[in-house]
Amino acid sequence: MSAPHETRAVREVDLGGGVSVPQLGLGVFQVPPEEAQRVVEEALEVGYRHVDTAAAYVNEAGVGAALRACGLPREEVFVTSKLRNGDQGYEQALRAYDDTLARLGLDALDLYLVHWPNPAAGRYVDSWRALAQLRAQGAVRAVGVSNFLPVHLDDLAAASDLVPAVNQVELHPTFQQRELVEDCRARGVVVEAYSPLGQGADLDDPAVTAVAAAHGTTPAQVVLAWHLQRGHVVIPKSSRRARLEENLAAAQLELTADELDRITALERGHRTGGDPATFALSQIR
Ligand code: NDP
Repeated sequence: MSAPHETRAVREVDLGGGVSVPQLGLGVFQVPPEEAQRVVEEALEVGYRHVDTAAAYVNEAGVGAALRACGLPREEVFVTSKLRNGDQGYEQALRAYDDTLARLGLDALDLYLVHWPNPAAGRYVDSWRALAQLRAQGAVRAVGVSNFLPVHLDDLAAASDLVPAVNQVELHPTFQQRELVEDCRARGVVVEAYSPLGQGADLDDPAVTAVAAAHGTTPAQVVLAWHLQRGHVVIPKSSRRARLEENLAAAQLELTADELDRITALERGHRTGGDPATFALSQIR
């Protein structure tokens, strides 16, 4: 691999406890295991310093191979992974964390998340206790959750003094979850937007394409700039080098207040992923 480029101007978001995360990172959901190393190496080459994977994506080994091959010091890349539903529970979560580290070939993660509340299994509070224990031991730099609704966050607050550093939730112009975002902010939980492009579905909207034309940018850059200016951490996924560069360059685009409002007006309740109240895929593969 050629020498890594300089990191572009991506802001850092404070997660507390001396930890901060680059506001724009790479997501690798649906990147096949055999492609993960290539995609993550290319992302690091073009300047990404934040990678979001999960045990359930079955590509942690490829992510780890890229981290070793890239030549960057470990502390320069922020790495997140997630506890899959099938591994929930106190003891299971502790073991699952070790397994994730082994697959990635790392000594510690920067951020470990409970992937889904999976309320039907009734184990997310026990899982959270395990993550809090890992955090207290210094085995992980920060811990958080994903797909948690206020009712699930209330249960964690009743059982533990540790506030999740982040809640990673589906969030894009046509599905903004504004009440959930406000709730997280009131608790001091940083909001991470997954499927930030609506898995591509939000990019054809005429409001988005008009703003893109006005700036001579692409629709994806407009949507990502909207996220960044609203304070979300974003983790767009692409397997293509040109789009990796395009998406990262969104950090340099500044939308006007009027343009931000036009994108914010696109809310349609258009969820693309699972509903956290019921989603229960065991994700044991
Ligand atoms: P995204 O909103 O990031 O969209 C990805 C899709 O958009 C892909 O089809 C990609 O295609 C395409 N795309 C990417 N960049 C561009 C571009 N510049 N122009 C046009 N099309 C583009 O969806 P994801 O669901 O992948 O979400 C991103 C990340 O969020 C995931 O990878 C994962 O890390 C996380 N996530 C977390 C979940 C959770 O439960 N915690 C659930 C879902 C996602 P191509 O690759 O061909 O470029």
